[in-house]
Amino acid sequence: MSVNSGTPHGRTPADIAKNAQRKFDSLNLNTTTSTLVDIVGLVVDRLGKPIAIEPIGDKSWATVTGLWVDTAERHRILIRKTDTPLYQTHVVLHELAHILFEHPGCKTARATAPGVPIDATSAEVRARKVIASSSSESAVSDAVLEGEAEHLAFLLSRVLLRPKNDSDERVFG
Ligand SMILES: [Zn+2]
Repeated sequence: MSVNSGTPHGRTPADIAKNAQRKFDSLNLNTTTSTLVDIVGLVVDRLGKPIAIEPIGDKSWATVTGLWVDTAERHRILIRKTDTPLYQTHVVLHELAHILFEHPGCKTARATAPGVPIDATSAEVRARKVIASSSSESAVSDAVLEGEAEHLAFLLSRVLLRPKNDSDERVFG
């Protein structure tokens, strides 16, 4: 079954979770051995475009903690150098989820990340940021896209954070 990220209006949180689960299932990830490198490789295979993960040190990133820049040659995922590795991983998974869903870019995000060098004028940009509550239609559909990305990132992170073996799990009872 193909997953369509089409018209998102009126989707419930349950719909969003189901859509993310379906996308996750379609990846056929090996949930006992997959690493972040494996997941990135799988997304590259699926979408047929290289992915570059670039830590950025710009302190002016107050509200944006990650950026996906879709250029003709590659997907660029920009993360904050100053964030913890765990949080950086989550941001990478979140942006990978947007790429997997083939969500449209958000050009207005460019203005919220000053100092980020975005070369190609045609680049599509999607930023990870906190969504202000609003009843406008574009805010609603944006919330759905963010919800899908966040839920898929959560499912992917469960693969990475799995217990390494049974005895690990027993430690936590
Ligand atoms: Zn996002």
